[in-house]
Amino acid sequence: MRPRLTTLFDRLWEQAVRTPQRFVVLSFAVAAILLVLFFVHGVGLLRDHQIQSLHQDQQLQVAGISSVLNIEAERLMGMRGYAQHLIRLQSGPHAIAPDPPLKAAYDHRNDAVWTLPAPEGDAVLLGVGPAALAGLDGFSRRDADLLAGLYVARGLSHLISAEPVNPLVARKLTYVSTNGFFVAYPPVPPADAAATLRRIAAAGYLRQHLPEANPGQSMRWHFAPAADGAPDGYLSLSVPVYLARQFRGVAIMEISQRSLDAYLTRTTRQDVQRFLVDADGNLVGTSTGDVRRGETLSEVLPASWREATAQEMFRRGSGTLRAADGSRILFQRIGNSSLALVDYFSGTDLLLRTASHLSAVLAASALALALLMWVTLQGIGKLFSHYQARGDALRELAATDALTGLANRRGLEARFAIEYQHSRRDQAPMSMLMIDIDRFKRINDHWGHASGDRVLAALAGVMRATVRAIDVPARVGGEEFAVLLPRTALEEAARIAERLRKTIGQTACAPAADAADQEEIRFTVSIGVADMGVDGTDGLDAMMQVADRRLYAAKAAGRNRVVSDDRVSEPAAAQEAPVVASHIGN
Ligand code: GH3
Ligand code: MG
Ligand code: MG
Repeated sequence: MRPRLTTLFDRLWEQAVRTPQRFVVLSFAVAAILLVLFFVHGVGLLRDHQIQSLHQDQQLQVAGISSVLNIEAERLMGMRGYAQHLIRLQSGPHAIAPDPPLKAAYDHRNDAVWTLPAPEGDAVLLGVGPAALAGLDGFSRRDADLLAGLYVARGLSHLISAEPVNPLVARKLTYVSTNGFFVAYPPVPPADAAATLRRIAAAGYLRQHLPEANPGQSMRWHFAPAADGAPDGYLSLSVPVYLARQFRGVAIMEISQRSLDAYLTRTTRQDVQRFLVDADGNLVGTSTGDVRRGETLSEVLPASWREATAQEMFRRGSGTLRAADGSRILFQRIGNSSLALVDYFSGTDLLLRTASHLSAVLAASALALALLMWVTLQGIGKLFSHYQARGDALRELAATDALTGLANRRGLEARFAIEYQHSRRDQAPMSMLMIDIDRFKRINDHWGHASGDRVLAALAGVMRATVRAIDVPARVGGEEFAVLLPRTALEEAARIAERLRKTIGQTACAPAADAADQEEIRFTVSIGVADMGVDGTDGLDAMMQVADRRLYAAKAAGRNRVVSDDRVSEPAAAQEAPVVASHIGN
């Protein structure tokens, strides 16, 4: 296992060294993928955190609403206790005699609308005549109880006029007597007295507290959705007032659906839809602001929540539900009431909100990563071109002869490899010259080694000036030179060689300063010419060998001449005389 891993790393490094740019891009791609993975993981964590904080927010809301409702319930219970006590007193031997205002109200009891003024600041009592009461559910005028009832209601008007605990939720307090009168706060104008009693009857506030409907005489939560055409529905808490088994009236606390909507809208986050529902799933209030008359929770939620039932939520008390589409519901029952707060939020909303928190971090990291990658690539590019230039210079140096500046043997080989390809491709001929200075030892001996070097440099200069741009002059030995002649046949090469030989013969070279003899140095060369393809001379070595052979033939024939043919061998030609091989002609 270990050796395998090691070879894997070795290979990786090899790859990195060979193509560092690609390696860098790959590394950064891996880093970017890791970054995205971290981001996704982070979004998941943050989302859970958000859900938790939503849950806490809901708990706070529920605690707030619950305490407000508890206080209102306490107030109703206090009112009921007070009312029952007064009724019992007024119905017994300790009853207080009716005062003049009470008597006056009693006397007008059959008027269409009548009133009993209350002390300064307290709610006014309003009553209607028997005609207006006829047919209203739960009402029945009994004159025997009327005076005691009025006494009680006037006593309650001070309690009823108290301001609500939470000014954000507008609530209405009413004490209504089965005898057809009521005290309400905020006050109702006398003209609306009959309509108010009709609304109370229609909502079933009395019916639900009749002895048979509420034998325990307990407090009741009730949601009365707005009737057709009515402007508003009501959530109510009501408690009956009894004298023994005799049903006398109801104390009611009502919160309008609109006011609940407004309250929920004000106190709920934008990306959450908050619903207040009763145990049957009826919408009592929504944070989305629109009063949904008579609608239930499952009707307003998306299709994936059709199965969600309020009963289930009430049974569990509180918790979280999740639908297949990623949307969630948080629910919590409000105290012991038959109300629950339900928060709905869509999965995409939650995800987008969470992602938006992190996207700045992601964008910054991606930018930093990209910047870092760019800088790294730039650095590698610079480093690469620097070393490439150095490599080129070194190669150039390695292929060049220091003394003459011509190509050396290695340089010649490199150029030959290129020209060989061209010549093969173009079916073009190629030739070469081998040049050796005649009697060079004598020059060295007479003028000194430094002057000999000057002769070598002078020869190189003549070669460079004489050959064409495509030709490659080179120094291949001490005082041995060569010229590669691409796209040149043997005859043409021989002509070039001859021209070169003649020019060299006319060249004079100044000796070095240290030379004993300061007379100009004159010198000659012998040249062997060969071409490619003749005698199987395909490679450089083969061609050089042939050229070398002819060069020595030229030496043997007396030097200072060009030989481009093997038939010419050791003629008894005159020594040192400039002679050109016979087949070229003069
Ligand atoms: P030949 O006509 O037969 O060529 O006679 P030669 O004297 O030129 O004989 P050969 O070519 O064998 O002589 C080579 C001499 O060139 C030997 C050596 O002293 C000299 N030589 C070789 N390299 C250098 C060099 O770099 N500088 C100098 N000054 N002389 C060199
Ligand atoms: Mg030689
Ligand atoms: Mg020589």
